[in-house]
Amino acid sequence: MRVRPSSRCSYAALIVLFSSTLSAAQTRVVPPDNKYPVSEDVQLGRQAAAEARKQLPLMRDDLVSSYVETIGRRLVAAIPPELQHSEFHYTFEVVNVREINAFALPGGPMFVNRGMIEAAQTEGEVAGVMAHELSHVVLRHGTAQAGKATKYQVGQVAGAILGAVVGGGWGQVISQGTQFGLGAAFLRFSREYEQQADIQGAQIMARAGYDPQDMANMFRTIEKQGGSGGPQWLSDHPNPGNRYEYISKEAQLLRVSNPIRDTREFDQVKSHLRSLPPAPTTEQATKGRSTGRRTSNDPRTPTGRVQPPSSSYRTFDEGNLFRVSVPSNWEEIQASNSVTFAPDGAHGSYNGQSVFTHGMEFGVARNESHDVQTATDELVDSLSQGNPALRRQSGPSNVTFAGRRGLRTILSNRNDATGQDETITAYTTQLPNGNLLYAIGVAPNGEYSAYRGVFDRVAGSVQITDDRGLR
Ligand SMILES: [Zn+2]
Repeated sequence: MRVRPSSRCSYAALIVLFSSTLSAAQTRVVPPDNKYPVSEDVQLGRQAAAEARKQLPLMRDDLVSSYVETIGRRLVAAIPPELQHSEFHYTFEVVNVREINAFALPGGPMFVNRGMIEAAQTEGEVAGVMAHELSHVVLRHGTAQAGKATKYQVGQVAGAILGAVVGGGWGQVISQGTQFGLGAAFLRFSREYEQQADIQGAQIMARAGYDPQDMANMFRTIEKQGGSGGPQWLSDHPNPGNRYEYISKEAQLLRVSNPIRDTREFDQVKSHLRSLPPAPTTEQATKGRSTGRRTSNDPRTPTGRVQPPSSSYRTFDEGNLFRVSVPSNWEEIQASNSVTFAPDGAHGSYNGQSVFTHGMEFGVARNESHDVQTATDELVDSLSQGNPALRRQSGPSNVTFAGRRGLRTILSNRNDATGQDETITAYTTQLPNGNLLYAIGVAPNGEYSAYRGVFDRVAGSVQITDDRGLR
């Protein structure tokens, strides 16, 4: 019987990550490979935290702040020595919004929602969520993840032609002001990392004198939360399956005698919060806090009436990822997953989704070791999920894209915002890390002849300048 290399690989990884050691009587958690230096966690986390502080309504309330700070310090003191990073700087802030959520950024900044404290039934439950978040930080999951995939984290390519479908999580709020969804990449974790944070968090809790069972209980409370789209916390921290069961099992291994659970301070904070006006939702609180830079939340519906592409070009430099030349009358619109270049009047929103009628969008789709043809087929499939009228027209043909061998595929579509039939040109190539770099040119059928050469020229101008994110 032949074992596929991939399944053998993940089996080995599983053993390494979750083998029990008899002496410790607890599950050993090994931080994932990380090609970023520790100083990068500190720097990137500091940037993202600055953005979060600008975008989110922080609670300036001494009683609540010092309470959360106290729990945080107790947990930090319980970080096992092998996971301590002296460069990290742990901070704990409370966000005045009602959703049950919390997040922590690389290098230490943690943000806890007021709604999470309100939903908790014991101090142990608050500590449970914080210990989970802290574990993402000490295991350096944010940068490990950012290095593993790409900075773009194109999870939902389905919306790519219509622009990125804007989700409701933290990543979106923070990525509005940062390059290419820095936030999203740091905050949305794989199931494997989630399980690591659960197990590591349980161990930190136990060392701090809390019962890890309280973490399992809190997650159960979170899962029961309804609301549109389900609890926000779960979209960033997906349940790896059997979460409650394996945390409970770990809690039994850890055996904490006389755990801290109900405290007087917890009761005081809870009754203080009840005396305050209720917290707004994240959406209410963050509306209109945009940083002025154009994002995919532009509320205007595109008219589709635009100036032709300028014959002069300008260079757009995306940090250390890539460089591209675009007609000088195309502006860039940053979304969390992609960047779109389009003329005025060609981009905006329709039915709550970002749309564009003329221009080009760039992004990276995750690709698990396929060839460029298969990966392109998958890209087209996912595009057609968000664009039911999408059809293949011709191709693929061979082109040079981003200085390497690529494919050009021509598709037809009907634009939802304008009702116009349009021609879509998709350029794809495989990056050294295996992922798929794509550029998607959109023009109405009647104007396609004027855009075809422009798309080729823009696609041909792309130079990969990145040293980390794409390799
Ligand atoms: Zn998590």
